[in-house]
Amino acid sequence: MCQCDKKFFRVRVRRGNYSAFNGYKFTSSDYSALHCLRCGDEWRTKAEYVRKTPDLREAEYEAARDLRQINQIYYVQETIY
Ligand SMILES: [Zn+2]
Repeated sequence: MCQCDKKFFRVRVRRGNYSAFNGYKFTSSDYSALHCLRCGDEWRTKAEYVRKTPDLREAEYEAARDLRQINQIYYVQETIY
């Protein structure tokens, strides 16, 4: 997981996974897939804070991705010039 504030964390898949091993069907698990809206990090955890973390909404995910792309463009430009 990243070092961002927990308020940026969202649950992408709660208590389970879609693994290639079972044909991408949902399989229940203790672990949830987390996503950070701020930096785009993804990780799996069964930590206690998952219970208090909201589900990731599609619109939120898209908006955050656009924002990261803009940030990356700025970063590249700053590096070049
Ligand atoms: Zn982050």
